Amino acid sequence: MEELSTGVIVLCNMRNLKDVVIVAPIQTAALTHINPLACHFGTVADMRAHPPFTHTPAASAPVEVAVSTAGPDSAEVVVDPPHRVPRELLARLDIAGPRYTSYPTADRFVEAFGPSQYAQALKQRAEGGGAVGGAFTPLSIYVHIPFCESVCYYCACNKVITKHHERADAYLLALKAEVDLVVNQVGRGQAVSQLHLGGGSPTFLNDAQLEDLLAHLRARFKFVPGGEYAIEVDPRTVDATRIHRLAAMGFNRLSLGVQDFDPDVQVAVHRVQAFEQVESLMRAARDAGFESINMDLIYGLPKQTPQTFARTLAQVVALRPDRVALYAYAHLPQRFKPQRRIDAGQLPQADDKLTMLTQAIDTLGAQGWDYIGMDHFALHSDSLAVARRQGRLHRNFQGYSTQPDSDLIGLGVSAIGRVWPHYSQNAKTLDEYHDAVRRGELPVVRGMTLSRDDLVRRAVIMAIMCQGRVDIESIELAYLLDFRQYFGLELSQLAPLIESGLVELESDGVRVTPLGWYFVRAIAMVFDRHLQADRNLQRFSRII
Ligand code: SF4
Repeated sequence: MEELSTGVIVLCNMRNLKDVVIVAPIQTAALTHINPLACHFGTVADMRAHPPFTHTPAASAPVEVAVSTAGPDSAEVVVDPPHRVPRELLARLDIAGPRYTSYPTADRFVEAFGPSQYAQALKQRAEGGGAVGGAFTPLSIYVHIPFCESVCYYCACNKVITKHHERADAYLLALKAEVDLVVNQVGRGQAVSQLHLGGGSPTFLNDAQLEDLLAHLRARFKFVPGGEYAIEVDPRTVDATRIHRLAAMGFNRLSLGVQDFDPDVQVAVHRVQAFEQVESLMRAARDAGFESINMDLIYGLPKQTPQTFARTLAQVVALRPDRVALYAYAHLPQRFKPQRRIDAGQLPQADDKLTMLTQAIDTLGAQGWDYIGMDHFALHSDSLAVARRQGRLHRNFQGYSTQPDSDLIGLGVSAIGRVWPHYSQNAKTLDEYHDAVRRGELPVVRGMTLSRDDLVRRAVIMAIMCQGRVDIESIELAYLLDFRQYFGLELSQLAPLIESGLVELESDGVRVTPLGWYFVRAIAMVFDRHLQADRNLQRFSRII
């Protein structure tokens, strides 16, 4: 524990959590749970008011303990992955798998977890003091805005296509009512360090509607300085003036949906937006002081070829977004209706898709972006790349983050939340969502409470996904188990990945190699008990 000159107490040392967490939580039977890698900040007065390890949890709450996943020298453990990946490996390991924005994954949620369970979880957080869910742990908030003016044919999101912007008024009312239902349980004035507006298209809302929503949130939560406040932007719905308005509203991160700059590809997917349009928005975002600009790309779209994609990559390099998310298109027309409008004959063959993936890895790697993990790249100087090098990455429903692990309030249709150790998901249709809120009920339709086994495996999987290393002793001490015995089957299943040079079994840990970082999902999947029990992977995206 360290007291800083500002009067702030740091309850744990980010580089070596073992010293802090092992003694107190294990011996304190009353502890509900401690988020792995979550440091809890508060003033000295807060500390006295809410001793961190002494609150009494609900009897049924599973115990979670913090685990040093990266080891004491995490900064040295994580090294940059190579910029070239053998094509043979990419082809062999291009299988479907979860993205592990949560463990267990959302498809495991059950209807037995509903509004009353969620209300109880929020209440527990409110009563829980600072140890995990209380005053010392800032919240994340995700708001889902489902509307889009026109459909992109590759889309697999939960959205409503409409040109009637007045529909957003009714939705906004319901959203604000949901916020109040949540605040009734969790309490006013909770600190928030992350806000993410996603969709759909959040910029379907006009400025007045966005300001109304933000004012409502600000009146009920305390947005902390230095937090990450992000909004997804459809370049077709904004201009430079609007970008400045978004900055003035307090957003400091922006994610631009680009996908591909090639005009023929854009026509084939029904999303036409000129390079010059995106270029001018990027310029405006820089002028407006956005701290980080992300650009989404997709490979495997109709009419894409390695030649067209190379041109798109060159244009992306010229724009230099701080972060790039590169997704593989999965053609599942049976599941996603808009995809039926895609001519399957225009889709690139597997070999060309592989070429595009290696092109992206090579080009971005050579031009100053670090590979973060999964489908994310960030400029070497970006905070995500720095966190990656220092072993400080976290993972939440929005992907990789530099923010400490925190409870997530999901608002809006289909939104997912997590109030540790509970996951929840809202109704997926607008009608269901509006009906629940009108009844004065939290619109949660499913979720789950993690079992002890889920918590152990979550700690292991997140350590693999975020730090690339599992410290065996930390898991054993935190969960009181013999790691080699508990994970005997899994360790034997790692053999082919060890042989391929993707993972190493050390005397005190499991380590993802620099090359293995590109296949980190495949390594994590070995420890996923639910996946082992259900080999039907069709619902997941490709793992690279
Ligand atoms: S891809 Fe995004 S903008 Fe396009 S239809 Fe889907 S949610 Fe809307």
